[in-house]
Amino acid sequence: MDPLRQYQIAFVGLKAGVHEFSYDIDEWFFKSFDDSLVRKGKLRVHLSFDKGMSFFLLNFHISGTVQLMCDRCAADLALPLDSEYPIVVKFDEHAEAEKDDSMADVVYINRSSSHLDVSQLIYEFINLSIPLNHVSCDYLRGEKPCNADILNRLAPSSHKNLTMVKDPRWDNLSNIKFN
Ligand SMILES: [Zn+2]
Repeated sequence: MDPLRQYQIAFVGLKAGVHEFSYDIDEWFFKSFDDSLVRKGKLRVHLSFDKGMSFFLLNFHISGTVQLMCDRCAADLALPLDSEYPIVVKFDEHAEAEKDDSMADVVYINRSSSHLDVSQLIYEFINLSIPLNHVSCDYLRGEKPCNADILNRLAPSSHKNLTMVKDPRWDNLSNIKFN
């Protein structure tokens, strides 16, 4: 069975008004996305789906943790997420032509569709919540900083570069010639 099947919302059969959906996301979800940076996590998505006559209002509330690896010391990090993402879904047969840059939170679907697949949206929202570059222990306030022992064992030279950041002002000082 397609693990993402539950993310297909058959909106044609829904009455007008608000419908609630919830999803529990774990590693199976991320396995469905080949290039996913996140491989593990435990998240709960609460989706409020307001079906209007000509458009839908969706609000995704995503909370939980994702497991990431520290860029520097390779420690496992449990990064907490708690974010809401509202979007508007509109029908448009010529979506590309009418796309308006100022309305970035509008998702267009084909008028002939009967289902809305929210898995891709949820996947993108999770990724939006994560600092994709330089996920390090520093990012987690209150957590231990990078494990210095591991750093030394993994890459002694790069560890040195990280801890002894060169202050560019020193360049000028070192250029001063003492005669
Ligand atoms: Zn670290």
